Amino acid sequence: MNAVSPINTPWLSQLSTSSKFLIAGPCSAETKTQVLDIAHQLKAMEVKVMRAGIWKPRTRPGNFEGVGAIGLDWLQQAKKETGLKTAIEVANKTHVELALKADIDIFWVGARSAVSPFIVQEIADALRGTNKIVFVKNPVNPDLALWIGAIERFKQANINYLGAIHRGFSSYEKSLYRNNPEWQVAIDLKAAIPSLPLLVDPSHIGGKRELIFDLTQTAMNLNYDGMMIETHPTPTKAWSDADQQITPKQLSSLLKQLKYRVTDKDEKNFQADLSYFRDKIDVLDQQIINSLGKRMKVAEEAGQLKGKNNVSVLQPERWKNVLNNLIKQGKAIDLSEEFVSKLVKAIHQESITRQSQIIQSDETNSN
Ligand code: PEP
Ligand code: MN
Repeated sequence: MNAVSPINTPWLSQLSTSSKFLIAGPCSAETKTQVLDIAHQLKAMEVKVMRAGIWKPRTRPGNFEGVGAIGLDWLQQAKKETGLKTAIEVANKTHVELALKADIDIFWVGARSAVSPFIVQEIADALRGTNKIVFVKNPVNPDLALWIGAIERFKQANINYLGAIHRGFSSYEKSLYRNNPEWQVAIDLKAAIPSLPLLVDPSHIGGKRELIFDLTQTAMNLNYDGMMIETHPTPTKAWSDADQQITPKQLSSLLKQLKYRVTDKDEKNFQADLSYFRDKIDVLDQQIINSLGKRMKVAEEAGQLKGKNNVSVLQPERWKNVLNNLIKQGKAIDLSEEFVSKLVKAIHQESITRQSQIIQSDETNSN
């Protein structure tokens, strides 16, 4: 995979609030009054960049799909009155052309557009030759190459002020989050392109305002460069994403409570360093539990198959090989035989219990 060449970032610090790049504002522009109201409130808090969705990509038709081009006039007026930079999502060439006319400063590609190289290329071509700042949200599916590819398309269109927004990933399984964070994907993006500014979008990851603080703090502990947080004058009355927006007052208190990781290595900041590791550990633990859950489901399916074919739950030869291979694999990465053996036996025991239950209940049902 080609890494893109280093990206200029002085713009990032110029537009930062409390040392982080912050984009705040409503999910959607709803009325002129709402846009101007939130703009003035954000300005008073020293926010420098305001977002507002103009065209909304909704999962199903029939929901509010954005006010359309009229909203660009409201944003232009907000910018004139407050000096805030304006940021919107664009999903095609027409959006870009209209937004350029309205002097929008920052553009982002939404998660549903980021999956399509055709759409990304159309947007990149429409922005070619401009000096705009462009953020690419992660595609809805956790495909790092697709995310990097989208960024490369903008780089190739000579867009130099580039960044990424981590907004989480769709999954069929229900989880605490609206979109699972899968932090590792964003960490891998940062490793692939270290100079690329990375923002977190805790609003769309969490889907609930109660989750926003913890998600943002985790991102700060992982050294993200900033955040995009949906902020609305009256969140519960919002026309879209009402559950995940916060008031400017709540945003202000969130910003005060956030702890930024100290990057200066000479400065001993034990608590910050410790929470950096703890957050990494938490992410890995969540992955372990998730994998165990998935593993047990597969074991159950295998159990059903064994039951149907009247095959016993345990095949001793296979079990011996599985255990030995895992012990060998563990040793190669410094895990002791004792530890791996204990762990694998516990997992295996749980699998056997579940498979036996399934076989028995299948038999009871067919009797
Ligand atoms: C948004 O930011 O309003 C939005 C629709 O985001 P996403 O593309 O992450 O769903
Ligand atoms: Mn939204």
